[in-house]
Amino acid sequence: MSGLSKENRLNTDKAADIASAPHLRNLRAGSGLCLLTNDVETTSIVNGGLRAETGIKVWKEGMPRLLDLYAKYNAKATFFFIADFAKEIPEIVRMIRPYGHEVACHGFTHDYRQAFDVMSLEEQIRHLSDAKKILEDISGEEVISFRAPALRVNEFTPQALVETGFKIDSSVAPQRIDMFMSLGSKKKIAWLKAPRTPYFVAENNLARPGEMPLLEIPVSSFGVPYIGTFMRISPGINVLTRKLLHRETKNTEKPINFLIHPNELIEEENLNLKTERRAGNVISYLLSDLLRRKLKQRNLGIKAKDLYEKEIAFWDKKGYKFLTMKEMLEIIKTMS
Ligand SMILES: [Zn+2]
Repeated sequence: MSGLSKENRLNTDKAADIASAPHLRNLRAGSGLCLLTNDVETTSIVNGGLRAETGIKVWKEGMPRLLDLYAKYNAKATFFFIADFAKEIPEIVRMIRPYGHEVACHGFTHDYRQAFDVMSLEEQIRHLSDAKKILEDISGEEVISFRAPALRVNEFTPQALVETGFKIDSSVAPQRIDMFMSLGSKKKIAWLKAPRTPYFVAENNLARPGEMPLLEIPVSSFGVPYIGTFMRISPGINVLTRKLLHRETKNTEKPINFLIHPNELIEEENLNLKTERRAGNVISYLLSDLLRRKLKQRNLGIKAKDLYEKEIAFWDKKGYKFLTMKEMLEIIKTMS
């Protein structure tokens, strides 16, 4: 495994002894491993909705800030790109290549009307194969990792991913209980029982272990999510979450998987666009559209970069190794 220190290789060997179950059901994959994962999209946190102008800022401002941070800590990361955005600005994909970061897929579009949890199997296959081809043509590398926009998936998603050649998914956040504030919350109830360590998924449910050749690398959470949005909304609680996750990893060797967006690291003027109503009923509208949008605007831009650096510095100081999704899969293959 290139890029892994001797210490991490030793951890991997140890984890291989622990993970002896045939389907890697209670897989314990390498202590001290940290995945820094970035969802690259044109969503405007300040103004709501998808905006081409936000996309330019993500390219010119958000991405360079992230790339600087990762270079400073010699960290390899994974970038999940929305394919129609990458098609508009292919440079946003190419700019990560010299650093050895992984090019991954965040779907064809971030339009909530075409979320994966409302699409048929055929529609999902079409979106995934189109997106994969676009990203592979731009990057010249095989794209095998996927994260669904807004972590919205359904019973067809495992099959659609396997049929289109994906090998890794990261759309499940086990035991994360903020789902009632997010869209598609009903299907996210499956998160409550999802395993916390990486696992191969069931045929019709990404949140259950099974026999499909698709590795789930869950997004970290400890009741509350361990993601950029929550880090910005509630930095104090986030420090506690991070400590709890570190303690858990010491016991279970579960990898850390932090999710952030380059659009959190940009400065945008407030155009006072009306919050688009996406939710069906009034309560859901108040919680998942209005309140959520208000909270999500805290600590954006350079403040988000400073907060994020504290996260990275914490894991770095504790001796964690930063690696990509693909590298994680390679480690797990050596265990089976
Ligand atoms: Zn997204």
